[in-house]
Amino acid sequence: MGGTDDGAVTHPGGDDFADLLAANAAYAETFDEGGFDGVAHAGVAIVTCMDSRIVPLDMVGLGHGDAKIFRNPGGRVTPQALEALVLGVHLLGVDRILVVPHTHCAMTSSTEEELREQVSASAGVDASWQPFHVVTDQLAALAEDVQAVRSHPLIPDRVKVGGFLYDVDTGLLTRQI
Ligand SMILES: [Zn+2]
Repeated sequence: MGGTDDGAVTHPGGDDFADLLAANAAYAETFDEGGFDGVAHAGVAIVTCMDSRIVPLDMVGLGHGDAKIFRNPGGRVTPQALEALVLGVHLLGVDRILVVPHTHCAMTSSTEEELREQVSASAGVDASWQPFHVVTDQLAALAEDVQAVRSHPLIPDRVKVGGFLYDVDTGLLTRQI
């Protein structure tokens, strides 16, 4: 990485992200959310999967600045998710938490072994050491995850916690717990 006289920074293989940066420049043209604070203005936090079929804000009618979103494969309440939720509740205005796994999730339809084999084949190197935390019973995992949030010593009872399943074919969210 190096600088140029006009202040632009060049990177090796620098055009890899050119399309996205061009789109960002257009985005910034009409960007009018500057000076916004980082509080969740609708008081909402969502833990959900990284799946590209999920658009978390849209699916619950929220927009810019409204919610804290934490995503990972499977939409699990991991230690990092709890860390985010504790910060959200105490510092960022969160008072409702949705835990949202979804239908057709690769983390529930594959075994750990299958994922390791697929990744090994793609990577061309051994991936048998890589954990993927597959989910064998999605609704049981959701119940556990919701309980982990509700029983967390730093998440008070005033915070409402719900477990939902998102249907990627219909767009519908149904409450499970
Ligand atoms: Zn998923």
